[in-house]
Amino acid sequence: MLLSLIVPCYNEQDAIPIFYKEAKQVLEEMAVDYELLFINDGSTDGTLKILQELARKDGQVYYISFSRNFGKEAAMYAGFCNVRGDYAAVMDVDLQDPPAMLPQMLQIIRSGEYDSVATRRSTRDGEPVVRSWFAKRFYRMINRISDADIVDGARDFRLMKREMVDTIVRMSEYNRFSKGIFGWIGFRTYWLAYENRSRAAGETKWNFRQLLRYAVDGVINFSQVPLSVASWFGMLMTAVAFAAVVFIVLRRLIWGDPVAGWASIVCMITLIGGIQLFCIGIMGQYIAKIYMEVKKRPHYIVAESNLRQDHKEGAPRCLER
Ligand code: UDP
Ligand code: MG
Repeated sequence: MLLSLIVPCYNEQDAIPIFYKEAKQVLEEMAVDYELLFINDGSTDGTLKILQELARKDGQVYYISFSRNFGKEAAMYAGFCNVRGDYAAVMDVDLQDPPAMLPQMLQIIRSGEYDSVATRRSTRDGEPVVRSWFAKRFYRMINRISDADIVDGARDFRLMKREMVDTIVRMSEYNRFSKGIFGWIGFRTYWLAYENRSRAAGETKWNFRQLLRYAVDGVINFSQVPLSVASWFGMLMTAVAFAAVVFIVLRRLIWGDPVAGWASIVCMITLIGGIQLFCIGIMGQYIAKIYMEVKKRPHYIVAESNLRQDHKEGAPRCLER
């Protein structure tokens, strides 16, 4: 039995040595075969150097280095495409996903009742209040309007069976939202909750704007509901227009027809114009996604790696793009 850990790293020179030490210790205690696959996601600091060094000293360490920063989603995908393990897990390098949970996760998955063991934060303590509030609204909304089951506080840290990894690799869409993909493919998942903890070293790569972008991407990738917003507005406006016609006819009959009301017309024109642009904007978001999909560009470009050909043959084949 082989256990593979996928570790995306972006400018993590301070965190990698700490992670390596802790993960290594846990894995040795577990007495299983394992491989550690680090993905250097276009770091501009000493990350690659550290990974090369680790790989030279330790035969169980592999790395893939991207030609530039492609984002964590691409890094995870590269990991899934290149691991050979019967079980695989994605872990952040900042120790926010504690390696100490691995033995318990492996035990649960090996009992055979579950195909994956996922983790979620039991609290959002230590996070800015505004961010928590938006995050909660986001999860409530996306679960209502999409058929992927997305759990609030879910982390990307999860241990999966080979079958699940192969399925994820087959979902080769360019716009990736892993939380949605994990939920969409189904399988029997066991949820483990744990206390949120802060980064071991370095700092988070996310600011509020990026998180908002991530949330919008999630909705667009996993729901078609926003597209129907235009139809709803259209119906509403039609109803309003009918009511207005009736009102104007009645007013003409009762009070005659004084020339007034240009202000209300201007208001109506700008309102309708605004709604139309808003709806076109929503469509534009989807079209932009389609545009990226049909280009069939690679998810990532490998600049350097220590994976040998025979290693790649044991891993699921990524769809050639
Ligand atoms: N990461 C990455 N590419 C990126 C951004 C982040 O590979 O463009 C990695 C990062 O090195 C870390 C993990 O993704 O291992 C989670 O990132 P971070 O800790 O910044 O996110 P947070 O935990 O704050 O959500
Ligand atoms: Mg983190």
